[in-house]
Amino acid sequence: MQIAEIYEKFKESKGVTTDTRKIGEGQIFFALKGEKFNANNFAEQAIALGASYAVVDEMEHAQNPQCILVDDVLETLQKLANFHRKTFNIPVIGLTGSNGKTTNKELLVRVLSKNFKVHATKGNLNNHIGVPLTLLEMTIDTEMAVIEMGANHQREIAMLSSICEPTHGFITNLGKAHLEGFGGEEGVRKGKGELFDFLKNSNGTTFVNQTDEKLTSLIKEKSMMLVVYYGADEFALKMTAESPTVSFQIPESEHIYTTHIGGKYNFDNMQTAFAVGRFFGVSHTDAAEAIADYNPDNNRSQVIEKGSNSFLMDAYNANPSSMAASVKNFGNLRTEKQKVVILGDMFELGEYSQTEHEALGKLTSEQDFDTVVLYGENMQHALVHLPKAYYFTDKFSLHNWLIEKAFTNTYFLVKGSRGVGLESVLTVM
Ligand code: ATP
Ligand code: MG
Repeated sequence: MQIAEIYEKFKESKGVTTDTRKIGEGQIFFALKGEKFNANNFAEQAIALGASYAVVDEMEHAQNPQCILVDDVLETLQKLANFHRKTFNIPVIGLTGSNGKTTNKELLVRVLSKNFKVHATKGNLNNHIGVPLTLLEMTIDTEMAVIEMGANHQREIAMLSSICEPTHGFITNLGKAHLEGFGGEEGVRKGKGELFDFLKNSNGTTFVNQTDEKLTSLIKEKSMMLVVYYGADEFALKMTAESPTVSFQIPESEHIYTTHIGGKYNFDNMQTAFAVGRFFGVSHTDAAEAIADYNPDNNRSQVIEKGSNSFLMDAYNANPSSMAASVKNFGNLRTEKQKVVILGDMFELGEYSQTEHEALGKLTSEQDFDTVVLYGENMQHALVHLPKAYYFTDKFSLHNWLIEKAFTNTYFLVKGSRGVGLESVLTVM
């Protein structure tokens, strides 16, 4: 069946789903395959549960008249999403980067929502399935879309860009994330740069923080035409405090806005939301209010108070650049409390793992922390520079140690990869 025909069915349906557990009456079920599952097997069940159609790619599961047999379900989902996307003549802002994508997206959505009906990626649905699903949820009244694109290997951003066809876009930063899949830092630059290639070839507009040398040099190298620079102009935000949370001023007023997020890196994220908002005509005061209102969840640079202790919970994810930013930020934090850092393993670093953990150890040793706690197999490499650190490889021992120490009047930085789940320390504090 042609995409145009499937699109007709999509228009009559109540959206799409890939999960039989969440199926809604009248939705089209896309039977995706993964490493460990083959949803073709659930096509009949999906129809029984109320799906209007099931898109399958195995003949034996296509017997029911409500089944649509295609060559490849995932590809069909992506093509359908692009078909839907093409029916919108609106700004679609695509963003990627090593760190801070979701934070940027959330800030920007809040800023743009002051003036527009904005459709955006929910949570972190930023991959080859999440991006199409996000696009397929765009409704007729959508005035603007903000699409987060994540990647851990080459050509992925090019592919996601060709699906969502951004008219505008930006890279949050070029750092050290997914070094294994990208093939080192140069690989990250190349892979994330695919967004710039798309924008250049389609006459799209690129936003770039002119104080970020890695990004500005990429812009020059690619001879980008339509570029909006921000960050060091007379309209920039001015940071008045960085920790524990960022406070800032807008150009035309002395009023100080206090946010719920800390660290210089979050100030950069705010700057982007502010600049892109300005480009689309959001007033500075509206943008500032939206930014100050943003309260992160999911352990993304969240400040949590418990008794006399404070926690900067950053246990959502970790990679060399976000770890470095967090550790430096915590090093700069002014507080009367003693400072304890609890750092967990960074993953997906492949051959770079040892040197990156060592470098983190060195950076951490240069800060003034009262106690350093390292957690996980990879962190043994950080220990080289931190002989006095406490080192654990299982949660039970880490938790017991925390209970024994009975910390009071302490400020903790807790950061590690998602898989390490360091937020569990809160349960024993
Ligand atoms: P993912 O790859 O999981 O989608 P992401 O790029 O969406 O991650 P966020 O979820 O916004 O990133 O933030 C995750 C963590 O990255 C934050 O808690 C913070 O520690 C760090 N971070 C956020 N912004 C920046 C930045 N501009 N530079 C460096 N680190 C950052
Ligand atoms: Mg994200």
